[in-house]
Amino acid sequence: MKKIAILGASGSIGMSTIEVIRRHPECFELVAFSVYTHVACIAPLLDEFKTVKMVACKSLKDVESFRMKYPMVQFFEKEEGINAVATCPCDLCVNAIVGFAGLKPTLKAIENHTDIALANKETLVVAGEMIMKKAKENHVKIFPIDSEHSAIFQCLEKNNPIHKILLTASGGPFFQKSEEELKKVTLQDALKHPNWKMGNKITIDSATMFNKAFEVIEAKWLFDVNPSQIEVIIHPQSLVHSMVEFIDGSIKAQLGVPDMKMAIAYALNDQIRLEHIANFLDFHPSVHMDFYLADKQQYLPLKLAYQALKEQGTYPAVMNAANEEAVHFFLEGRIQFIDIFSIVEKTLAAHTNIEKELTLEDVYQADGWAREYVRRMVS
Ligand code: MG
Repeated sequence: MKKIAILGASGSIGMSTIEVIRRHPECFELVAFSVYTHVACIAPLLDEFKTVKMVACKSLKDVESFRMKYPMVQFFEKEEGINAVATCPCDLCVNAIVGFAGLKPTLKAIENHTDIALANKETLVVAGEMIMKKAKENHVKIFPIDSEHSAIFQCLEKNNPIHKILLTASGGPFFQKSEEELKKVTLQDALKHPNWKMGNKITIDSATMFNKAFEVIEAKWLFDVNPSQIEVIIHPQSLVHSMVEFIDGSIKAQLGVPDMKMAIAYALNDQIRLEHIANFLDFHPSVHMDFYLADKQQYLPLKLAYQALKEQGTYPAVMNAANEEAVHFFLEGRIQFIDIFSIVEKTLAAHTNIEKELTLEDVYQADGWAREYVRRMVS
């Protein structure tokens, strides 16, 4: 029985992880989880999963009314609570926290020698080198649960070097739209992803292609390849979740209906496939797939991602923070969709990169600087 802890249990990935655990009680035991402010899901989860020993939320005040009902469960709050879940006794910690806030818990789990199923790509975007080094030192396995990276992970062959990673992108709801059309995009338009049902932040990132940009950086660190070995391919149907091209010209792809439970279960069960995870792809009467090579110069986020891999240092952390702030302002209706691009570009242009092996403090400082810079630009 594998003991699982989930950081960010109330989000889309967290809930899908719980669904996988629910469908396979013979394999997994939920032992700890964190939610942020979504405390309404705590009691139902504790009633369903009697194995949970630890719960973290934003404030203990929010759970006062019902925590006495669960004397066997320890409740924690704030950062201390997240760290408690990240370092609790378990076999695998699923990090499904949204954004930069996911970095520290990943580090805590690594220092605790706990294997990680990583949905929080920001961890690798802002501190990829540091994280991979620490994971190696602590003999910690990092299983990707980004669908593309899980697909690549599933395609890799132990004894065969790769030529290229072909990272697929749906292109989001605005694929092939002109700049004029992008200027008119509303929040409602941007929140409608054609294939995947996800949280708000990542849905906006998919629409801008910043999500794909971050995935390029994530792929570099997870699979230790040169940036020139990562190609982005637009595939609007999202049936191929990514591909690996080997040195002999062979390409392996991982396909299936778009369902995050596939990547989650593969990570949770240490690469052994389970039944009752996703629906089977229906080929009746036919399945059509398109692929377009994404032009890195045409998509600003991709251009910035390759620049970030070249510059390294604090550049990627600034790119991430500026985007997070810009998306936050867009979700609040304070800026236009198209402003997200210029905000990130301007912030990066104003940043003096620190090009050395980063400490956690360097990353935090760069993140804070970028957020402040964006706030001043918008207000
Ligand atoms: Mg993805």
